[in-house]
Amino acid sequence: MEKIKFQLDEKDLPATWYNIVADLPETDEPAAVSPTTGKPLTRDELLQVMPEQLVEQETSTEREFEIPEPVRQLYAQWRPSPLFRARRLERALDTPARIYYKYEGVAPTGSHKPNTGIPQAYYNKLAGKTGLVTETGAGQWGSAAALSASFFGMTAKVFMVKVSFQQKPYRRALMESFGAVCIPSPSIETAAGRAILAADPDSPGSLGIATSEALEVAAQDPTLGYTLGSAANHVLAHQTVIGQEALRQMAMADDYPDIVIGCSGGGSNLAGLSFPFLGEQLRGGPAVRVIAVEPAACPTLTKGSIAYDYSDTGRLGPLFRMHTLGHTFVPPPVHAGGLRAHGIGPLISRAIEERLIDPIAVGQLGCFEAGVQFARTEGILPAPESTHAIRAAIDEAKRCREEGQSRAILFGLSGHGHFDLTAYDKYFAGQLDDETVDEDALTRASASIPEAPLR
Ligand SMILES: *Cc1c(COP(=O)(O)O)cnc(C)c1O
Repeated sequence: MEKIKFQLDEKDLPATWYNIVADLPETDEPAAVSPTTGKPLTRDELLQVMPEQLVEQETSTEREFEIPEPVRQLYAQWRPSPLFRARRLERALDTPARIYYKYEGVAPTGSHKPNTGIPQAYYNKLAGKTGLVTETGAGQWGSAAALSASFFGMTAKVFMVKVSFQQKPYRRALMESFGAVCIPSPSIETAAGRAILAADPDSPGSLGIATSEALEVAAQDPTLGYTLGSAANHVLAHQTVIGQEALRQMAMADDYPDIVIGCSGGGSNLAGLSFPFLGEQLRGGPAVRVIAVEPAACPTLTKGSIAYDYSDTGRLGPLFRMHTLGHTFVPPPVHAGGLRAHGIGPLISRAIEERLIDPIAVGQLGCFEAGVQFARTEGILPAPESTHAIRAAIDEAKRCREEGQSRAILFGLSGHGHFDLTAYDKYFAGQLDDETVDEDALTRASASIPEAPLR
C-alpha cells in the first residue's frame, strides 16, 4: 500500500522548543526599541508586560528551551500532528514532485495557534494572572487564547478585528463557548478604539488597532496578562514543535524537503515549520529553499521595508525591527484575515536578510482555486490563510513537471477552513475579487514609519 500518513507516537513529542537565534549570525541591531526611551528594550521593560519565563525566551541566545510538563501534557491531546504525502494531488497535477504537508488543523481550535496559546497561558498563570487579554485577526488566535485560558481556569478578553468579527460570527461563538468575551475592534471600550472611531466610524479595523486596544486594557489591569498570537521570538520558538516533528516524519518517509513553504502573517507557522530545517542547514546539514507566501493585498515582505516600527496603531507597544508597510496600514478586507498584518516577526526579517527565506505575494482568487483543488483531491478544506501555501506548492509542483525535475516539497497546512465557509460560498458565487492595494495607500502608510527611532 502507498504510504500517505506519517504519524509519530506521543513519546516522540519534542521535549524542547528550538530558538534559531542560536544559529543565526550575531547582530548589533536590537530587535526591539522602547517607545518611551527610544533605546533598546530592556528586560525590565519586558517584565512589565510578560512573565519572566517568556522574557527569558524572548531575549535568549540558547538553542533550546525545555517544554514544561503540563504544557506537553496538553499538547498530547492532538500532538504529534500528522504529516501526509499528497499522492492524490500529485496525480491530479501529473507532477514528478513529491508533495508533503504537515497538518495543524487537528488542534482543538483548528489551527497551529494553541501551540503557543497553551504555554503563554501556563506562564501567566504561574505569574499569578487570573485572566488573559489579547487581539485577534481572523479569530483563530482568539479561539486558541480562549481555549488556553479555559485549560488553566483563567478568563479571556479578545479584541477581534471588526471585518473578521462580521465575516466569521462562529469564531466569536467558539470563543464564548470556552468562556471568553469577544469585542469587535475598534471599540468604544478603549481610548485607542475611540480615537479610530472618531476619525472613521466605519473602520473595518486592523490587527494594529486591536493590538492597541488589548495593550491598553492590560496596562490598566494588573490581574490580566497580555498575550500575543504571532511575531514575537518566543511565539516563533513555541511553534517549532511543528518543524521538529516534521523533520522526524520526513525521515520516516525516507525523504528530505528541497522546498519548505508556509503562509506568512506574523510569521509563526512559517517559522514553526521552517526554522528547525533552517537550523539543520545553518549547522552544516542539507540546504532547503524556504518560501514565505503572503497576500498581494498585504505585501509586507515583498513591498515593505525593514525599519523600526510599531506593531500597534496606537503606538503603545515597542518598535520592532521588521519588514513593515507602516503601522497605519489598513489592508483590504481579504478573507485570509490571519495574514492581514502590516509587520512581521523580527526573526523572519532576519532570515530574509540572511537569504534563508524567499518571500512571494499571491492573489486571493488563485489561492481559493488552489484550496478547492486541494479539498477535492486531499479531502481537507484548508483555511484561507493556508491556501496561500497550497498555491505556492502547486506552482512549484507544476514547475517540476515543466523542468522534468522531481523535488520534495513540504508545506504547512496551518489550519482547516470550517469556520471560513462564508468565504468559500462567496468564491463559488463569483463574488470575490483579487483585492490589490493601491500605491497611494502604501505610500501614505509608509510615511507613518518613524524615521530614526534609536535616540
Ligand atoms: C493565524 C494563522 C495564520 C497566520 O499567522 P502566522 O503567525 O503567520 O502563522 C496562518 N494560518 C492560520 C490557519 C492561522 O490561524
